Amino acid sequence: MLDALIFTKTPLLLKAVYPECIWKVDANEKVLYLTFDDGPIPEVTPFVLAELKKWNAKATFFCIGKNAEANPEILKQALDEGHSIGNHTYDHLNGWKTSDEVYFENIERCKAALSAYCLPPVANVFRPPYGKLKPSQYATLKSKYSIVMWDVLSYDFDLAVPKEKVLGNVLQNAEVGSVVVFHDSLKAKEKVLYALPKVLEHFSAQGFKFEALC
Ligand SMILES: [Zn+2]
Repeated sequence: MLDALIFTKTPLLLKAVYPECIWKVDANEKVLYLTFDDGPIPEVTPFVLAELKKWNAKATFFCIGKNAEANPEILKQALDEGHSIGNHTYDHLNGWKTSDEVYFENIERCKAALSAYCLPPVANVFRPPYGKLKPSQYATLKSKYSIVMWDVLSYDFDLAVPKEKVLGNVLQNAEVGSVVVFHDSLKAKEKVLYALPKVLEHFSAQGFKFEALC
């Protein structure tokens, strides 16, 4: 199976493997869909929310269930400020290495954690950690969830990638309708703090809006 993580810009071939996932939005206007995975955490997520607010930008946060449970006030703030929340499993499980039973249970556990704050359809949006899903997992989940993958990966999670390259990855690859991945995680903190304000400024100057998925 192809490894989604080796590409900055997701190739068409990979998109064809899971055609019912959302990779990019067919938009008629200049809009980008920023997404933030692995939060919410107090060290990074409030910074992201403050930056988004400066540009009246909306985004989608794919939360790890245990982080959502530990930081409900941040989750609530994101919702109150008009952002979308998605499911990213309770423990950030790798679908390729996890039995279907355990994987589905972990997603439901995350959903229960998120459902304390958000109602469907918000709680029915799912992104698999690492972009890794077995075909059997995809077959079951696609009828229950909107599965969101991505069009542009910033590589902010990769300690070997400098912050300037993370910024360049987004500036050079994002286009109308792109779903862009950042992380509100400790590992990505320095890069998100650097790149996010510049991405918001750059695309706002070009007339782009930033919207939440679902
Ligand atoms: Zn993740």
